[in-house]
Amino acid sequence: MTQTQPMVFTPEQAKRYSRHIIMPQIGGSGQRKLLDAKVLLIGAGGLGSPTALYLAAAGVGTLGIVDFDDVELTNLQRQILHRTQDIGRPKVESASDTIAGINPDVRVVQHRLQLTSENAMEVLEPYDIIVDGSDNFATRYLVNDACVMLGKPCVHGSIFLFEGQAATFIPGKGCYRCLYPTPPPPGMVPSCAEAGVLGVLPGIVGCIQAIETIKIILGLGETLTGRLLLFDALSMETRQVKVRRNTACPVCGDSPTVTELIDYEEFCGLPHAEVPSANGRS
Ligand SMILES: [Zn+2]
Repeated sequence: MTQTQPMVFTPEQAKRYSRHIIMPQIGGSGQRKLLDAKVLLIGAGGLGSPTALYLAAAGVGTLGIVDFDDVELTNLQRQILHRTQDIGRPKVESASDTIAGINPDVRVVQHRLQLTSENAMEVLEPYDIIVDGSDNFATRYLVNDACVMLGKPCVHGSIFLFEGQAATFIPGKGCYRCLYPTPPPPGMVPSCAEAGVLGVLPGIVGCIQAIETIKIILGLGETLTGRLLLFDALSMETRQVKVRRNTACPVCGDSPTVTELIDYEEFCGLPHAEVPSANGRS
């Protein structure tokens, strides 16, 4: 996100991004920041799909995508990065093709892997902003802790039935653990595969995550830092809950006790052998 490159656009880019460039709040310099930004999406599922599509259309120059799964028929009810003809293909490949069709300016980095304590720091390190669209608590805590340790902003989103949540965690201003110090007991919160989810809902939450990401890149407005946004699709009501940095937080508090990545499956009370694929089934 540095301004080292000259602010030069090809004629096609000047046209493609003209509706950004004419906005005084964005302009050519803002569009250059978007093109220079490197964003990592955790999951190419329900949340990651709309986030990826809009960030690609907006001209975010580098999009990393972490996902280990292949496209399944049950995904297509909400995971709009993927098409019927993509069933059986790795999601990172399908996502890459879709994004290339939207905006050839975007470089997609495919991370076809399960994020673990062993590889997370290395995978996250090259990126400016991490967007968490994962579907399970072990990955969520892993991504949170790695972001705190690397000093990277994390844009959180999650969905359940008809309800969505979003928050932005900026280093030094609280983290996911400040909000939820401990994971729920295993089996307490069923997954989308077990309980279902309204197909449009991840679209709304993922778009909020995309907006937050763009605001961080451009330094515009007020992000959801220090706030958790709750959205109920049935009542069309939104609520906000204050999130304060917990000075006793084991990761981002004044005297952290977790200073390197731990065993998150154990932390979440999951037996190792039965851990499903960690990413992308949101
Ligand atoms: Zn914290």
